[in-house]
Amino acid sequence: MNFIHEDFLLHSKTARRLYHDYAASQPILDYHSHLSPADIATDRRFRNLFEIWLEGDHYKWRAMRANGISERFCKGKATPREKFVAWARTVPFTLRNPLYHWSHLELKRYFGIDGLLDEHSASSVWNQANAFLSSGNLTARSILRKFNVRALCTSDDPCDHLRHHRSLVASKPGFRVYPTFRPDRAFLVNDPANFNAWIRQLGEASNIEISSLRNFLDALKQRHDFFHATGGRLSDHGLERCHATPCTERRAAAIFRNSRSGKAATNQEQEQFASYLMLFFGRLDAERGWTKQLHLGALREVNTRRLRELGPDAGFDSTGDWTQAKAFCMYLDCLERELALPKTIVYNLNPADNYAFATAVGSFQDGSIAGKIQFGSGWWFLDQKEGIEWQINALSSTGLLSRFIGMVTDSRSFMSFPRHEYFRRILCDLLGHDVENGDLPNDEQLLGGMVRDICFENARQYLGLELAPVSEKRER
Ligand SMILES: [Zn+2]
Repeated sequence: MNFIHEDFLLHSKTARRLYHDYAASQPILDYHSHLSPADIATDRRFRNLFEIWLEGDHYKWRAMRANGISERFCKGKATPREKFVAWARTVPFTLRNPLYHWSHLELKRYFGIDGLLDEHSASSVWNQANAFLSSGNLTARSILRKFNVRALCTSDDPCDHLRHHRSLVASKPGFRVYPTFRPDRAFLVNDPANFNAWIRQLGEASNIEISSLRNFLDALKQRHDFFHATGGRLSDHGLERCHATPCTERRAAAIFRNSRSGKAATNQEQEQFASYLMLFFGRLDAERGWTKQLHLGALREVNTRRLRELGPDAGFDSTGDWTQAKAFCMYLDCLERELALPKTIVYNLNPADNYAFATAVGSFQDGSIAGKIQFGSGWWFLDQKEGIEWQINALSSTGLLSRFIGMVTDSRSFMSFPRHEYFRRILCDLLGHDVENGDLPNDEQLLGGMVRDICFENARQYLGLELAPVSEKRER
């Protein structure tokens, strides 16, 4: 039997039935990704397996470095083919790492390749995949259609023109692509050069002259409105932990003024300013009925020598261990007291905090929307079999798994859509195991309905994104 076979990861009869009869056919609503809207709008064609699979993949670089492969073959100057061969040579050493599963699942789903990837198969895999890519059947758009993606959200700076998103609406590609409002640079009062450069862009994008905190907030709101008009219904923040330090408007205005005149905020001032802004952003999202996403707990760029050599996002980040629960609850509580708490999804990076987040989420449900505050899917280092099971188990034990809005790829690569399949198999396997143990009733309608909801329907209802009509789809 091939390694990736139709019952991969499905260890019981019930798991197989739930997956094949209920999960597999569900469309994908990938509500958090980092795919390039330009690539989708221009229907990018990938020249070779390196471009579509290895370029920009820090998971693979980390494994290669750990396997003693020189940087030349990761982010260095080796040719695409040399880099691919170095990766292929590493794959047999990734046994039990999720990369081993992901890689073979991806080769199978995109190129129909069944064998195991290693040094010996590298050449034939390279040739087979490249032939497939040059046939023009795996362009950015045809990949989205192939995986039955009904809607996808990108991550975008508030200054972005969203031209590609708008042109995609007009071209009716068979799926929808929505922007996500991600104002990371709005917090940079501790780095005046960067902050002021960004404010210049924000001023131009919003056509508002930004001379005070008030105009700054007006410009941000204007961009939020613009994202809304383009169909956006989500925001996102990547933070070490929630900012929840009290800060008056006067104090925020003074910190803003100082940074505008080139005086960097201290750590304490930065925290105050960020706290002030996070409440502002929370209110904007609540007013518009948006969903706020919080990605908490990444300890980024810990290796300064490699950061200097290779730049950011090269694979030198790890799991942080800040205390999270109190600040997270304080943030939600501040908004809740004003009746301005938007729908919120929190993604956690430290599994030790799973119960803290899963229970915090339960303390802010208000009966207005099912699963209003979501404990999001396993993220980054937790986006793997064990991490996915931990998240599902913590949520099941303290909240309502049945109201969970499911998986996201959170990826920069068009080769990541099988992550949804991977998640669905793990979900069905857990449920199947419980049924066969007698811990859940053997009620196919009940369980199948829940599986379908978690795979797609819950996200559809919760996020309120308009989806492309099914008839718009041209290929499967
Ligand atoms: Zn992300």
